[in-house]
Amino acid sequence: MSKPFVRVNRARCQGVQMCIAWAPGAFEAGPDGLAIFRPDGEWTLEQLEEAVENCPTETLTLVLDGDEETS
Ligand code: SF4
Repeated sequence: MSKPFVRVNRARCQGVQMCIAWAPGAFEAGPDGLAIFRPDGEWTLEQLEEAVENCPTETLTLVLDGDEETS
């Protein structure tokens, strides 16, 4: 089973950084203030799910084992 990851649609991200609040080990703000997913950070699947659900601009897509869950 492959590790889950989160796809960030940078065209939608508004740099609100709610994702960082929900999953501080999984996201960081890039130089432009937009979110970057950290696949090797310390996070849990539950944190990723919270971040995806709470992004106000529906920027994040959780990818589980090759299947996509749309945000
Ligand atoms: S919560 Fe959404 S809009 Fe805000 S930084 Fe994260 S991905 Fe971007």
